[in-house]
Amino acid sequence: MKVRHKKNECIGCALCEQEAPEYFTMDDEGMAILIDSTKMGAFHHRKALEYDRPALTRAAEGCPVNIIHVD
Ligand code: SF4
Repeated sequence: MKVRHKKNECIGCALCEQEAPEYFTMDDEGMAILIDSTKMGAFHHRKALEYDRPALTRAAEGCPVNIIHVD
């Protein structure tokens, strides 16, 4: 499975870091970063473990600006 994050629309609420700290952390400007990701177009992408699907789904469903996608 993969996770995508549209970093430039993040508003810095930190919910994703709370729900999935192995995938998201906050940068020096207080915005979320998808750890170990590669930028492709508007999104940062990375592979994710199936084991982490529940946490990533909570992050995606909780993101107030809907910029996290689990595929
Ligand atoms: S949940 Fe969404 S808006 Fe909040 S910090 Fe994470 S990516 Fe940004």
